Parts: sequence; structure tokens; C-alpha cells
Amino acid sequence: MELTENALKVLHARYLLRDEKGVCLETPEDMFRRVARNIAGAERLYGEDASYWEDRFYELMTSLKFLPNSPALMNAGKSIGQLAACFVLPVEDSMKSIFDTLKNAALILQSGGGTGFSFSRLRPRADIVRSTGGIASGPVSFMKIYNTATEVIKQGGARRGANMGILRIDHPDIIEFIRVKRREGELTNFNISVAVTDEFMEALKNEGEYNLRNPRSGEIIGSIKAKAVFNEIIESAWETGDPGLIFIDRINRANPTPHIGQIESTNPCGEQPLLPYEACVLGSINLSKYIKTEDRGQKTEDRIDWDMLAEDIKIAVRFLDDSIDVNIYPLPEIEKMHKGNRKIGLGVMGWADMLILLGIPYNHKRAFEFARKIMKFIRDKSKEASEELAKKRGVFPNFKGSIYDAPDMPKVRNATTTTIAPTGTLSIIADCSSGIEPLFAIAYKRLVLDTELYEVNKYFVRIAEKRGFYSESLMNKVFKKGNLKGIKEIPMDVKRLFKTALEIPPEDHIEMQAAFQEYTDNAVSKTINLPNKAKKEDVEKAFILAYDKGVKGITVFRYGAKKGTLVKIADSD
Ligand code: UDP
Repeated sequence: MELTENALKVLHARYLLRDEKGVCLETPEDMFRRVARNIAGAERLYGEDASYWEDRFYELMTSLKFLPNSPALMNAGKSIGQLAACFVLPVEDSMKSIFDTLKNAALILQSGGGTGFSFSRLRPRADIVRSTGGIASGPVSFMKIYNTATEVIKQGGARRGANMGILRIDHPDIIEFIRVKRREGELTNFNISVAVTDEFMEALKNEGEYNLRNPRSGEIIGSIKAKAVFNEIIESAWETGDPGLIFIDRINRANPTPHIGQIESTNPCGEQPLLPYEACVLGSINLSKYIKTEDRGQKTEDRIDWDMLAEDIKIAVRFLDDSIDVNIYPLPEIEKMHKGNRKIGLGVMGWADMLILLGIPYNHKRAFEFARKIMKFIRDKSKEASEELAKKRGVFPNFKGSIYDAPDMPKVRNATTTTIAPTGTLSIIADCSSGIEPLFAIAYKRLVLDTELYEVNKYFVRIAEKRGFYSESLMNKVFKKGNLKGIKEIPMDVKRLFKTALEIPPEDHIEMQAAFQEYTDNAVSKTINLPNKAKKEDVEKAFILAYDKGVKGITVFRYGAKKGTLVKIADSD
């Protein structure tokens, strides 16, 4: 296998099997074999040839064309056996529920999964507590307990604990929630997002007010100017990156199984809306591997190996569906829910690399068009694959009453098939750009597991050599700046092709997110980067634009803003 030094470091540190003394017991090839064998074991349940599929899965992973989410690589075939990255747990308005869920979250975190929670059902601060005659301490105080517990659990876990905390915009404690991360050191193991309703967005547009409701009694406790609350969100997001927004009504309009429940939260990085107790297994196709020819004379479409992509999507869907059957679930409730809806999330990584190889700048009109084309293809092929599986294995058990239970809809085995994950670690293993993000820098120092690694983008080096402008002194300049702006030896077209995240205006980041969202069942992980000098109005513009463009949520990050949570700039420590 061809693995970079960085990939090997990451695999050695967290993924490869070790004995009690910490001695590494497998090579990366052994790891992929372990994963392929474990997942393909599910084929036996359907009377299929498990060893045939083991080899297909092994080839797909070792060619680095597809990787499943980290927990699958870490845990498959081990006694822990937990393969999913994404979970949502319910938090009901009772001490019992709050602490039962905390315990359950601890089990998930230990296995490398990330958990999202909506705290919207908790009664507000200072509300009555009948059983004790006391007063309630409110959602934010319980989030702090969850945060502390995560801090302790993560020391022993497979990776950094990641949580998503959601509060509805109409919860009486919304202002406290919005402001909480402005204080250094608060909720560092949480990404937080406000669940924004259409009613709120309407009030905002009309410069009106909206109602706050006590979730315990359903009582309207007052109304508040939408703009005043929005300004608080903008202030916090500008300062710290949190909170993000999730457009909760839009998410529920796309809920494939409304008869099973309402969606109230996403997983930690926002790409996976889920029902309470639901899980999802993710996997990502490395798009940089599907360029047939680098001959720029040919039409973009003709340069993609569509046949290989179609075939690999089919195998990847099967892999993800199989992993539901062999998964060892942390809780029986989660097993029931995941096996009921059988949600899988196939997405992409290496998108920025693909565009570079095609010679299309990240924010060119052709890039947005091509994003739609690629993602539509993946969606269609993944649905076909899911339909094919359903013919042999049956539709997902909660099918009746779902949106697919209609004459003109495909009879599928999976309630969802597509999600765009951040691929923070997967992209290091596969040596490609992460998710659908543009390059963050052309050359940089990356801290991977306490080791400083120096990297120059391999495609830039290649072009520089090929076109004859490579030199040590030029590379030093690129290292110092991180981007190519203002370096006169570099031709204009190369500068345009290698634009980094901060050279791309926020509206183009959103446009790319929207392009992928159009053909994605679940959601799209994307950071909307803003330069340090961005103003609060720029954050406001980005939020409104995101809503208007039809995405399911948005997170902004202003370069250099203080940030307590590292998950969104997912590296691998
Ligand atoms: N995740 C987590 N802890 C982490 C990174 C990720 O729990 O340190 C979970 C979280 O639910 C996130 C999902 O894994 O949304 C996918 O993240 P990513 O694609 O970056 O993970 P990878 O598979 O590359 O490790």
C-alpha cells in the first residue's frame, strides 16, 4: 500500500491493533483486512459469498478510493465492535433522563462516536421543580456537566470526545446559551448550534417579534425581537465561531421517517441530522482517484472515470449497509433505531484535489456546476445500489409510512444514503483534501499527534516542476505565506487554481455547500471561512444567505477568532 508518512503516524497512534503492553500487532494492510473481513461477515446472513465481498471491500479501501468513518477502522473485528461515527440521544426534562443520557453518551464517546443532544426540552433556569420545591438550573448548567464528563472520558477513549449541543431559538434560556462560549474555557468539548425555526426567520425578515415558550408547560412566556436575538448570535459567532445555526424546520421537511419521530439535533460536526437514539455509519469516496486523464484538451465530463465511480459507489453502499448488521451497538435502543431506518451516509473527500486536477478553480462557475453533477451521480447511484439491496434483503423495516412509501419513489434499503462528512482524519490517511473544503494552505506545518509535520501541496509541487518555476527559494516563500498571493514567479492561472480557503469569499463557500446539499439526503459539513478582518455584518450576510440558498445549517469561522472547540478544524490529535 502507498501511505504517506503522516498517514502512517495517524494509523500507528490510534488505529492499529495493540496488545495490553501497547505493542502494535498489525500493519495497515492487516487493519484493512480486519475491517473488510468483519464487515463482509454480514454477507453470510443473506447467503452470499463473504470472502468474495471481503476482497472487494479490501481492494476498495487499500486503493484509498473509499474509507469508512474512523470508528469502523478502529473497532471492526475487535471486542468493542462499534462502527458508527454519529449518534443523537434524547434529553428529557427529568433528572433521570439527563443522567441516563449522560451515561449513554459516555459509552458512545468511549467507542469513538460523536453525540448530539437537543437540550430544548429542559425547563428554563428558575422554573419550578415540583418534587423538591426548588428552582431549576436550566439547560446550560446541565451542558456544563456533560462537558466536564466528556473531558474526563476522553482521556481513556479512542479519540477526542465530540458533542453537539442544540437549543431551540424559542427556548427561554436562548440568550444564555448563545453567549456561553464567549467565556474562555466554557463547553470546550461542544460545538453548539441554535435550532432556528421558519417562524423566527420570518419574524427576522419582517423586523418583528417571536414567542418564547416554556417547554415544560408549553406556555408562551413572552415575545422578543428576532433581530435582538440574531444580533447576539452574530456577536458570538463572530467572536468564537459558535453557535452555528441549524434550520430545524427545513431539516424536518426532509425527514424520511416522520412517523418514527421528529429530528431535533445533528451529530457533532452537523452533517448528520438524526432522530433521538439514531446512529449513522459514514463513508467517503476519494474523488481525486477518479480522474481518467489529465489532458486538459478534453471536456471535463470525459476526464472522469464514471464507470469506476459507479461501481465503487455500489460496493461502498453495500459495505455501509453490511456494517449495520455486524455493528456492536452501545445501547439496545440505538440498535433498534438504526436497524429500523438503516441510515448510511456516503460522501466525498478530495473534492478540492479533483478540481485542481481538472484545472478548475474552486470558486469558478464550472466548479459549482460540476459539484452538482458529481453529487447527483453519487446520489442516484447510491439509491440504485440501495434499491438493489432491498430486492434481496428487503426495504428498511420502518419503510411503511416513510417518504419512500409512495408509488413513484424507489423501494430502498436505507432511509438515507448520502452525507458529506468533514473527513478530518480520513483525508490524512487517504492523502487528499478534506471533504468538500478548499485547500487551507499550500504549505503548512501541521501538528499531528504531538509531532510537527511540514507539508507542501503535492499538486502544486508537480505543477511547479512541470512548468519550470520550481525552486527552493520559491518554496521557502510559499512556506512563509502559506498561500501564493503576491509571489510574482507564479503564473496567474496557477494562483487562481490554488486559491486557499481564506482567499475564497464566504458567499462562494456557501454556494459550494448549497451545490452539494442539493443532492445530499443528510447534510453537508462545511466551514464558512472568514478573514480576521471580517465584520459582524459579514457574519450576518453569511447566515441569511445560507438560509436563502437552502442549506441545512451553517458554521462560520473567522480566522484568528478565539475558539474553544477544535473539532471543526478536525485534525487528528
Ligand atoms: N467525530 C468524533 N470525534 C472526533 C472527530 C469526529 O466524535 O474527534 C465524529 C463526529 O460525529 C463527526 C464524525 O465523527 O461528525 C465525522 O467526522 P470526520 O469525518 O472528521 O471523522 P473521520 O472519520 O475522518 O475520523
